[in-house]
Amino acid sequence: MPKILDGAAIAAAIKQEVADEVQKLARQGIRPGLAAVLVGHVPASEIYVRSKVQTCAELGLFSDLITPPDTVTTEEMLDLVASLNGILIQLPLPKQVDAKSLLDAVLPAKDVDGFHPVNAGRLQAGRPALAPCTPAGVIEILKRSNLPISGEHAAVVGRSDIVGKPVAMLLLHENATVTICHSKTRDLAAVTREADILVAAIGRPGFITADMVKPGATIIDVGINRITTREEFDHFFAGDAKREATFAKRGSTIVGDVHPKAFELAGAYTPVPGGVGPLTIAMLMANTVRAAKMRRGM
Ligand code: NAP
Repeated sequence: MPKILDGAAIAAAIKQEVADEVQKLARQGIRPGLAAVLVGHVPASEIYVRSKVQTCAELGLFSDLITPPDTVTTEEMLDLVASLNGILIQLPLPKQVDAKSLLDAVLPAKDVDGFHPVNAGRLQAGRPALAPCTPAGVIEILKRSNLPISGEHAAVVGRSDIVGKPVAMLLLHENATVTICHSKTRDLAAVTREADILVAAIGRPGFITADMVKPGATIIDVGINRITTREEFDHFFAGDAKREATFAKRGSTIVGDVHPKAFELAGAYTPVPGGVGPLTIAMLMANTVRAAKMRRGM
């Protein structure tokens, strides 16, 4: 039976460590804080940001939710960013706002999402950096589950700046032999079948199928895809009573980038939901405290 990697439990342990650190800092008169900037009304973004702000409160961090109007301009956003500490800009932004120049305007030392090119460069150069939260969470899952990384062949499917590239870089720093795959990769299945650690960050429901997996591999499924049709549901979850109940209640359910059947071959895997997802906020909290300490030379 494959081992199911419980992301929620690992995230809870990290959040407890962050809360302990926040208390320690409070005794020195330091209260790390996070300003979340949310523009517009993308329902998923509203949910993410609310839970980020709520988690700050639970762990004793200061937080501030700033919600400029839909009509905000790039200039107004740049002024706002210049005035803040510990900054998270919830993407996506409205079309008229230049997201790249805004992300570049966040001071690298306050860049708790780890998206600034300076932090990307520091990460690559192996210097202390604020690493993007989801990739950092992937490494925490592997390490805290005592799964080997050093010397293993890791295949990362996806090369985005927020997941694929940084997770590949972090795995490399942990001495994995890393192959980065993308939409132009020839014979992808031949590559993924060689992987001891397979990271899927593609954004396509159930894309990694059983024939693409090396038996006994560790599968990390970063994907979050909502499915709403009965046809899709049956394709992935036919006969799964628990999922059936969720689907009946909500009219949708979440599937990762890995087909549920492919998990059966794994040695260990992160389920969706409840795998990588919970780590993202936990690592955001850890980054917020880390940024506050780094800025003070601690
Ligand atoms: P993205 O920016 O859309 O990148 C997707 C990557 O997948 C691209 O590099 C793309 O290749 C590659 N790809 C697409 N089709 C492919 C194919 N047929 N074969 C091989 N590679 C293919 O997505 P992302 O932001 O990295 O997110 C990936 C997934 O992770 C999404 O499901 C997202 O919802 C999820 N996510 C989860 C969390 C979390 O908290 N758990 C956080 C962030 C993202 P090209 O570069 O060649 O186009």
